[in-house]
Amino acid sequence: MPSTTLPPLSSRGLDIGKILLFGTVATGALIGVPTFAYFYDYHPIDWIMFGMLYAITGLGITVGYHRLVTHRSFTCPNCVKGLLLIAGGWAIENSALRWAADHMRHHAQCDQDSDPYNAKRGFWFSHCGWIFLKDPNRDNRWTSKLRQDSVVVWQDRYYLPIVLSGLMLPFVVGLMANGWIGGLGCFLLAGLGRTFFVLNSTFCVNSVCHLWGRQPHGNSDTSRDSWWVSLLTFGEGYHNYHHMYPGDYRNGIHWYNVDISKWLIYGLSLIGMASSLRRTTARPKDRKKKNPSNILPTP
Ligand SMILES: [Zn+2]
Ligand SMILES: [Zn+2]
Repeated sequence: MPSTTLPPLSSRGLDIGKILLFGTVATGALIGVPTFAYFYDYHPIDWIMFGMLYAITGLGITVGYHRLVTHRSFTCPNCVKGLLLIAGGWAIENSALRWAADHMRHHAQCDQDSDPYNAKRGFWFSHCGWIFLKDPNRDNRWTSKLRQDSVVVWQDRYYLPIVLSGLMLPFVVGLMANGWIGGLGCFLLAGLGRTFFVLNSTFCVNSVCHLWGRQPHGNSDTSRDSWWVSLLTFGEGYHNYHHMYPGDYRNGIHWYNVDISKWLIYGLSLIGMASSLRRTTARPKDRKKKNPSNILPTP
């Protein structure tokens, strides 16, 4: 429910560039994708590319942008970090530097006006509305530490070519498989359509997981657990646990929690591609109180 005590959004200017960018993606996904299906239909390679790129770019955000860069819940070689940040860049959710700075502010100032996707302004603001408005609360405090990471700085500098390469890839695959029409179809489905789905599943963490769901780990902010958002976002739906213990490399702490991101991080650690995985020592008696400092390194 929107709060009446928050400053009016009318004081914030519109971000025309973001409106045009996301308007193009949404138009391509909601109108271009079904129109192409009506006239030509999609080839199996288009659906395979859609699934692969959904997983690759989604995990780039959850494992790379979120758990690695923002929360430093594990460490990895620079080559692994670079690949994760390229994959995350293909989701068109800003560079890792900007994304992580916004997300750090979300954790530090959750539910306040300076929370970039403050859910107290309602579903649509926290889901996507915040992107279309200029944010008066951005400052260099949140990016200064991130700039000490050379891979993060590199990804920020080359963010545009990374984004373009992510859109070109399905076009080239479709072109090689089925000619120009095939290229257009694969671009629409696995480029624009896939981007639209990844964006909205990620947005559900900021909206749904702050409005509906259980709070088994603490109620010091509006964060909530949602198993079905976890299915869409590779584990990010266990958001109440994540807010209470943000340094943990896991969001779903039980074995039966579908948290593909934690399994990928753990899998990388088994082959020497990740280390220093952080876990909390949360116990049932600790629930209902926030204690994010209770973090120990994994043996
Ligand atoms: Zn949150
Ligand atoms: Zn987080």
